[in-house]
Order: sequence, then structure tokens, then C-alpha cells
Amino acid sequence: MIDTDAANNTEYFRLHPNCKIVKGAKYSAIYDLQRRNLVRFPTEYYEILKDAQFPPGISAALFEASAICTEEMLKQTLKRLESLGLGMFCKEEFSNSIRPIEENFGKASNIINSIIDFKDVVIDWKKIVSALKAERCRALQIRSFSDMLSQEEVLEILDFTQKSSIVHVELIIKWDERWKNIEWSSFFQKYRNLLSVIIHTSPYNNNISGDELINLADRFVRYQTKPILSESNCGNIKEGNMMMPTHTIFSELQEFQGCLNKKVSVRSDGEICNCPAMKSSFGQDYSNLSKVIKSEEFQEVWHLGNSKIEECKVCEFRLVCTGCRAFLNSDLDLSKPSRCNYNPATGKWV
Ligand code: SF4
Ligand code: SF4
Repeated sequence: MIDTDAANNTEYFRLHPNCKIVKGAKYSAIYDLQRRNLVRFPTEYYEILKDAQFPPGISAALFEASAICTEEMLKQTLKRLESLGLGMFCKEEFSNSIRPIEENFGKASNIINSIIDFKDVVIDWKKIVSALKAERCRALQIRSFSDMLSQEEVLEILDFTQKSSIVHVELIIKWDERWKNIEWSSFFQKYRNLLSVIIHTSPYNNNISGDELINLADRFVRYQTKPILSESNCGNIKEGNMMMPTHTIFSELQEFQGCLNKKVSVRSDGEICNCPAMKSSFGQDYSNLSKVIKSEEFQEVWHLGNSKIEECKVCEFRLVCTGCRAFLNSDLDLSKPSRCNYNPATGKWV
């Protein structure tokens, strides 16, 4: 908390450059992209607070002239923001010297995320993963809904992704006795790009993370009794399940669909698609993956960012929420995700 006198003698309030304001219908939000924190406030304050993002900031003169709240209320609000580490009171020259953080979304990879699903058809995963590597894909999620994928194959896939562009691997696999006595710290040490493992249809529930994974605190393993039997087990947008974005993702979400931009998937029937739960598919010619993902038809959904979606466009979470484009009447439907429980007009989760 700053001392009141110091605040009275200064002239401007500026948000730190890592803090961005996103306007919503009833509530708006300040995203702290460095500490990965989100602070909501009633949208009537937006017209005042938005000026804190740019030089010179909110001036002392505005404290007196605001029609929205009293001078004292505004000062208290700004001091609260300062105590939360979101901004500061400062002189005009200092405020003008705070440079905005550049927002640009990296274009080094043609594809960033990928999913390969396994269920009841043999999938030529080696051909698919080779094509993903050629596209400089960075993240791969392997999901197995049945016994189709053996432990040997999982290990083979992991081996095949080592020392490649694929730096993040997530596994969602079905229980098999052989997953019981894994020494997970060594397993993660061996497969350095493996981030998480979920073993479903397990006879027991158990979460392994933190201290149990020496020097690997950001990794986790979950054994769960609940089965994951199909691609429809995805896309739920609930209170508390959103993660604060990095600067890169924040700028990506301003324009692009958060889950599907630069993503390619291979459905459990072998079809190439944007997402396995969506309706469109693009054949099985993996040797032509590059051509498929460059096509306008494939990329159309990449551009359906939350600012183009009904209701999402006025939601204060729209630049933290990756949304979902599956489970709608059509893949290019502009309705709010059917599995979202938030109402931006009332500011309530239902
Ligand atoms: S679009 Fe929806 S269902 Fe598809 S992967 Fe993303 S969140 Fe899941
Ligand atoms: S899906 Fe839309 S309405 Fe729901 S939380 Fe995300 S941005 Fe807000």
C-alpha cells in the first residue's frame, strides 16, 4: 500500500506494461500477464481505468472531475491496484518513459498444437508425427480411448518425439497394469518433453506432482477411475479452469481462436481435422499435411477468435479463454461455446 501523502503529491496513475485491460459487459478485467493473475472490476470504471494503460496515465485532474465515482473512491481504487502490484502513481516524465510491451504472435511454426486420437482403427502415427515434425509442430497430445494403444507404442511415440520441434507432449491413456509401478521422476527425466500423463479408467484415483517429482514440479500424473471414452470429453468452460495467458497467447487471442489456431488433429478414424470433436474433416493423406493445413478451408476456423463470437465479444474473460468451436450446429457457427457456463451480461457462472 502506498502512503496517502505520496499519492496526493503525484500526478498520474499508470498500469505496469504487463497489465492489460479487457472490457466486458457487466465486469471488465485487468490481466497481469507477468504474474498470471486476473482482477475484475465493474465495467462502469472502464472509461476511467483504460487511460492507465497509456502515457501519461490517469491524471490527478480526473480524480476531481469524474462523474462515475467520487474522488476518494477513485483514489482508493487506484491505491488498491497499486497494492496488488498492477500499477503505480508517478510523475508525467516517468509515465511517458514506460514503454508498452510489444505484442506479436510468433510465426516460426506452421503448426503449434496437435492431437492424435486412438480408438478402434490402426493409425499410422509414425507418418503423422513425421509430418508434424516437418511443420515444426511444438506440442502434441496423444489421447487413447481404448486398449488400441499399447504401452510399447506409447514409449515408441515418446522416443520418436525426442530432440525434435515437439517440446511439449501430453498423454491421455487408458489404464493398463503396466502403468502401475512407474517410477515417474525417472520417466520424466528420460522423456524431457513430456509434461503430463492422465491415466483414465484406472482402478484408483491418485495425483502425483510437486515434491513427489524431484526437480520436475511443473509435471504431473493423474490416475483417475473416470473413463475418457471419446473426443466429446472436452470443451468444458467452467469457473476456475482458465489459465492466465502469456504475452504471446494474449496477443494471439486478440485475433485468433485460442484452441484451434495453428492446431491440427487426427481423429480416431484416421481423418485429418481441426479438432476431433468438430464436423469437418480433410482426408487421410498425411504426406500432404502441409497442403491441407495451408488451405483456406482448413484455416477458416483459426480466425474465429472470441471477439467474433456472440456473447464472447463482450466477455471480460475473452482474452484468457481459449473457447471451443465443437458441439455447435456447424463448425463456422458464431454462437457462444455450448459448454460455457458463464453469462457476460450478468457476470455470473451458472
Ligand atoms: S475445439 Fe473444443 S472440443 Fe475441440 S479440442 Fe478445442 S476445446 Fe476440445
Ligand atoms: S466461452 Fe465466451 S462467454 Fe464463455 S468464458 Fe469464454 S469468452 Fe466468456
